Amino acid sequence: MEMTSEIDLDPEDWDKFRDESHRALDRMIDYLRHARERPVWRQAPREAKARFCQDLPVARRDFSEVLADFEKFIKPYATGNTHPLFMGWAHGAGTPVGMIADMLAAGLNANCGGRNHIAIDVEWQIASWMAQAFGFPPDASGIFVTGSSIANFLSLLVAREHALESKNVRLNGLQGMAGQLIAYASREVHNCVRQAMELSGLGASNLRLIDADERRTMRIGELDKAITADRRAGLEPFLVVGTAGSVDTGAIDDLDGIADIADREGLWFHIDGAFGALAVLSPRLKPLVKGLERADSIAFDFHKWLHVPYDAGYFLVRDPVAHRRAFAAEAAYLSRAPRGLAAGDIWPCDLGSDLSRGFRALKIWFTIEVFGTERLGQCIEQTCRIAQHLQKRIEASETFFIRAPVTLNIVCFGLKDDPDGQLAREIVMDLHERGEAALSVTILDGTPAIRAAIFNHRARRSDMDDFIEMLECAARRAKQAPRPNDVLAASLKNAGR
Ligand SMILES: *Cc1c(COP(=O)(O)O)cnc(C)c1O
Repeated sequence: MEMTSEIDLDPEDWDKFRDESHRALDRMIDYLRHARERPVWRQAPREAKARFCQDLPVARRDFSEVLADFEKFIKPYATGNTHPLFMGWAHGAGTPVGMIADMLAAGLNANCGGRNHIAIDVEWQIASWMAQAFGFPPDASGIFVTGSSIANFLSLLVAREHALESKNVRLNGLQGMAGQLIAYASREVHNCVRQAMELSGLGASNLRLIDADERRTMRIGELDKAITADRRAGLEPFLVVGTAGSVDTGAIDDLDGIADIADREGLWFHIDGAFGALAVLSPRLKPLVKGLERADSIAFDFHKWLHVPYDAGYFLVRDPVAHRRAFAAEAAYLSRAPRGLAAGDIWPCDLGSDLSRGFRALKIWFTIEVFGTERLGQCIEQTCRIAQHLQKRIEASETFFIRAPVTLNIVCFGLKDDPDGQLAREIVMDLHERGEAALSVTILDGTPAIRAAIFNHRARRSDMDDFIEMLECAARRAKQAPRPNDVLAASLKNAGR
């Protein structure tokens, strides 16, 4: 028999593999079905961590043994965002449908950088669906990326290319350029926009952070003034980034107002709608993001409010020519043939900096086909209603109070007798360690606040009632526990003895 080094299975092993895989899949489906019965999060014990400090394996092991290791050392210690009381960050919860779609995509192992195969058609289907959802022209151009951080970065590159078209920045770079490009965003903007300014060579100091009002949305009048001042100083305003759903509190900028200014001033209007943009799927929430349809580009994530398994960010651009101009390149092996597998007009690699890329579109296609946008929109709306319920419960509480307006699904709150936020921090860590609820701490106006971001489609109104009880108990525990400063003072005193 011919010797091979293939890493498919030996012929007699396929059936065993099939049985073991079925069982592993059954266990994973049950894991999702019973998500709410487990702790939200568990600290991985030393034994589990040690399993991932081993030497590079040389010998082979049985698939079943490796599966057993997965069950024992990995599965119990995941992030926890499948659980309904995971509210720490803007994370989607995943769905069994999305999981299967992702497995099927892995089976096909399609490379979606380009070429003539059906996965590319599925990608373009998602682009036209999203154009429809956001009220963009049907020929709008879009591409999957890892997340909104990268989508926001790509938007800067497209806007930069658009602004400097005549200067051929792709060839010459920014070195020795006369003009100085200036971008604008609310002070509540996600940090990735600042990072995008750094990465694009434009420099973070050329991002003007415009003051926000009491709803934490950009003060449009201040935007106007900043643009005028910069023009007067001989600088070149080129981009304004609006936020649809800020990461800290879910605030939504006045997108129509920003669009008016961008139109008048000839600026590229980009929207960071990482999670909030998908509010368009709910007829009730859609008016909150009015003006989204006027953007030049939008960054958003399917892995947050649409619960598609990680990762699935998206970058949508109104003008397909402007989009291609920033990225399309010529390389001999990427040239297009009139027929065959290398045929095609535009490939995804013309629209971003990735060449090899997976078939992310399949899990979005499955999710939207199976649930439909009506149900997905209701699901988004439900999280906002649950957030309002939580807000009411906190407003009625003697211990806690609301720290920021609740626009969508994020509730920020603090403790009444906790000026430095020390108790808030303690409560968040305590609830993590007890596996009861995952919250996060953010800083609002200089003071730590507890942040509950309700994304999970498995969350219910009654979970918030349970959660309020957990919070009250945690607050009592935190007040009884010695404060870190007291511990420090006591140890200093002891040391002095
Ligand atoms: C989550 C988020 C981002 C970053 O998106 P990733 O998918 O994590 O890269 C950017 N902006 C906002 C408003 C977000 O909520």
